[in-house]
Amino acid sequence: MSETPEVSRSTRLVAIYPGSFDPLTNGHLDLISRGSRLVDQLIVSILTNTQKQPLFELQERMQTIREATARLSNVEVDSFDGLLVDYTSRRRANVILRGIRAISDYETELQMALMNRRMKPETETIFLMAAEEYSFISSRMIREIITLGGDVSPFVPEAVANRVRAKFSQKG
Ligand code: ADP
Repeated sequence: MSETPEVSRSTRLVAIYPGSFDPLTNGHLDLISRGSRLVDQLIVSILTNTQKQPLFELQERMQTIREATARLSNVEVDSFDGLLVDYTSRRRANVILRGIRAISDYETELQMALMNRRMKPETETIFLMAAEEYSFISSRMIREIITLGGDVSPFVPEAVANRVRAKFSQKG
């Protein structure tokens, strides 16, 4: 067994929930609200060094996540680039939170969690299963519907739906 430092039950739990959140969906928000009950502080953090050209600017994504999580007092919104393990050290976080929707998520999530553990064993990745009613929602599909002019309001928080309407003069 690999050596991991002792964590006493009085250790303050600070979790990072990293992702693109382009845009935030009801599935993400459900994970944030369930995750925030398990830890002392939850930092939702947008990864900025992806190759993909985002549909929503970083500032728009941060603002909408802030609005959608305003009622959750231990949730903070941030952004980062570089390695997630380095960022967890900078923020003194000891937990990484991720969601799993289907088997298809499992493979990549497992690979990432194992790689992160190898690089920084003291940070534990915890997974929450997606809620049944949101498990079919992905940001990729939401972006597709938006660019095709469909109504995404049933699948995203109100803050995001408002932003979509303002930006894409969408119906719904
Ligand atoms: P990434 O670009 O890292 O996949 P996402 O913003 O799409 O970023 O997802 C961030 C995390 O949220 C991932 O762990 C993903 O599995 C999880 N997630 C995405 N959509 C849902 C959903 N509908 N329900 C629960 N978890 C989700």
